Parts: sequence; C-alpha cells; structure tokens
Amino acid sequence: MINEYKKESRLLIQKALEQSFISVPAQFRQEFFRYQQAHLFKFFLQVNLVAQLAYFSYIFADWFMLPDIGFIAFLVKGSYTLCMTLITFAIYKYSKSNLVFDLMLPASIVGATAIWFWLVNLSQSPDVPIYLYASLVFIVLANLCIQIRFKAAVIISMLISLIMYIGVYFAVSKDLHQLQIFALIYNPVLMFSLYISWNSTQKSRIVFLHNKLDQLNREALDIMAHTDVLTGLNNRRQFMQLANYHIHSQNKLQHPTALLIFDVDRFKTINDQFGHFVGDFVLQQIADTCRHVLRSQDILARFGGEEFIILLPNTNLHQALEIAERLRKSIENSGVKLETQQELKFTVSIGIAEFNAKNRDLHHVIQLADKALYQAKNMGRNAISTYKTAS
Ligand code: GH3
Ligand code: MG
Ligand code: MG
Repeated sequence: MINEYKKESRLLIQKALEQSFISVPAQFRQEFFRYQQAHLFKFFLQVNLVAQLAYFSYIFADWFMLPDIGFIAFLVKGSYTLCMTLITFAIYKYSKSNLVFDLMLPASIVGATAIWFWLVNLSQSPDVPIYLYASLVFIVLANLCIQIRFKAAVIISMLISLIMYIGVYFAVSKDLHQLQIFALIYNPVLMFSLYISWNSTQKSRIVFLHNKLDQLNREALDIMAHTDVLTGLNNRRQFMQLANYHIHSQNKLQHPTALLIFDVDRFKTINDQFGHFVGDFVLQQIADTCRHVLRSQDILARFGGEEFIILLPNTNLHQALEIAERLRKSIENSGVKLETQQELKFTVSIGIAEFNAKNRDLHHVIQLADKALYQAKNMGRNAISTYKTAS
C-alpha cells in the first residue's frame, strides 16, 4: 500500500530518466518551469548583463580596427546595449518568466549580429576579414546559456546563422569562394554550440527529474515511517507525535479531550481457530469501521498487536462514551467473510479516560485508559469502561 504512494508518478519519472532524449513528462512540466524559475532567474539576469557588457566592450576593438566607423559603432552598439539592459531589468522585475529569460540572450544576439555585420559592411578597413571571423563568438554565446528550450535555441541559431551568411556574403563582395571558407570554419562551431545547448537543456531536465524523484521517494519513506503497514492507520510513533502536538498546542486543552483504547476480544482464539491471515483481515476490518465511525479531527492509530487508540479532541467524557458505544456496536455488527462463506464475528472492549487540569500527561492518561480497558475486559468483554468508574 505504501509502495503504491504516487507509484505512477515515480515510474513515469524513472522511465523518463532512462530515455536517451530526456523530456519532462507533461504532468510535471509546470513544476519544471517553476523549479527553473527558482533556480535560474538570477543566473539569467547576470549572464545577460555580462554579455551586454562584453558586447559593448567591442567598441574599443572597433575604434582600433575599423576607425572609419568607430564613432557610429560606439553610438549604435551603445544604444543597443542600453536598450537590452533596460529590457533585461524589465523582464527581471515584471515578467518573472524564465521562459522569456531563457531566450533573451540568443534573441538579443540576433540583433547584435545584425548590427555587427551592418557596421562591418560600412567599413573600408583592411581588418574587416578578421572581424568576420570574430563574429563566431556570437553563435557560441547564443547557445552557451540555454537551459530550458532547445528547439527554440535551434530556430534562433538558424536565424543568427542566416544573418551571418548574408553579412559575410556582402562583406566579401559576393565572393563565393570566401563564403565557402567561412562556412567551413563556421559550421563546426555552429554544431558544437548546438551540442552545448542540447546538453545543458538535457542536464537541467535530469537534475529536475532526479530531484522530483528524490522528493517523492522521501515522501513515500515518510509515510512508511508513520503508518501501520497492515491497517494503513497511524502507527504508535505517529500517534504519540500527533497527540502530544494536540495536547501541548496552546489553548487546546481548554476544550475537553478524551482518550480511548480498545482491544479485540479473544483475538488469540481467532488466530488459533482461523489462522493468522483471517486475524489480519479482522484487524483491517476494524480499522475500516473506525474510519467510518470517527470524525476527521479524531486521531486514530494502531497502538500495538490488536490494540487501537483514539484521541478525541473537543470531546467530554459523556460524548466519548457515546462515540465508544457507536464504535463497539459497529464493530460487533461488522464481520469478515470466511472461505466457507460463513461470517466471522468479533467484538472489542473499550477503555476511556479524559485529559483535565490534573491529567495533562499523555503517558499518564494512556495508563488510565488502559486500566479502564482492563476493567471492561473484567466486565465480560464487548464492554466499555471509563476511568472514573474504575476509580
Ligand atoms: P483478550 O480478550 O483478553 O484481549 O484476549 P486476546 O486473545 O485478544 O489477548 P492476547 O493478548 O492473549 O492475544 C493477542 C493476540 O494478538 C496474540 C497475537 O498473536 C495476536 N496478534 C498481534 N498482532 C497481530 C497481527 O498483526 N496479526 C494477527 N493476526 N495477530 C496478531
Ligand atoms: Mg491485547
Ligand atoms: Mg485482545
């Protein structure tokens, strides 16, 4: 039952992680974006600002190598950098979408590349050919920081490549031989850049899926640690925790609180006569009956063997007696179908105690309820006793 905890989700993630092309399953996609949002948003801001600064710093190279267009390069690149910086801050402050941010750098590089080649084509400097090859850095930069959307990165890379080819074509005065040499050098860099982009997007998916799987496994273990495996009820440890929390949280004990312990009558005989499996069914049936009878605020647990315990918040002794009686009757009226199609009947005895100014300690009240239970057994079983009547 516990291993069933979100089993489908866990299997889905495991399967996704085994694929060679990892994609995040549809049901986790929103969470994946939120995860990236939390982890990458600052990185995207920083990388965009650093890239813009790097782009702007090329005005010094322009000044020395393309002096005829140095001033206009300063104006155009300066304005473009300023615009992109403002857009970067605006996205950071208002958009909060890392899907936009993920593509912000490559998208801004489209414009930067176009400006670069436009300026290069304006210049008559003999250093223009060096500048053409320096432009290779754009395609690398455009793909270096992609973390989420690989397909979009491919489309933008194609756009940047197109701009570069057109730019080079005109810069080499439509000399196809020169263009061919550029292509031979450029294409491997393009492929390598796209590989970096693909690898980063795969890695970010793997990290997310591993984290998600760890989280689900932790939750499953957590449930295992506080659940009784046979009945699915709280186990003793969880009961003590929940009950202590209830008792010690402020003002809670200003309201009456009762504690109820019950034990299956002559359970050993059931085991001996019908076998351990039937005994287990009886315990499961009792757990189901309790779930039906009790209110959502009641804290129910399997306390040990064939003993169950219930903390009843906002319940005085009189109301606790009513609940106990309802429970006793429901269990008495329930049954387990045997292989012979006969119905096996069983009963429980119940002990009740209450918390009050004198009895605030959980262990102590459990002892009192246990004494009352002992008395109910002595009354002939299938009975209820409160600690008051026992004292
Ligand atoms: P009483 O009316 O006095 O409570 O008699 P009893 O036979 O119920 O009491 P006793 O404590 O002698 O027997 C409890 C039995 O519960 C003994 C043990 O084998 C059985 N038991 C404990 N845990 C389990 C369990 O998980 N499954 C099954 N089938 N039996 C269990
Ligand atoms: Mg017992
Ligand atoms: Mg018993």
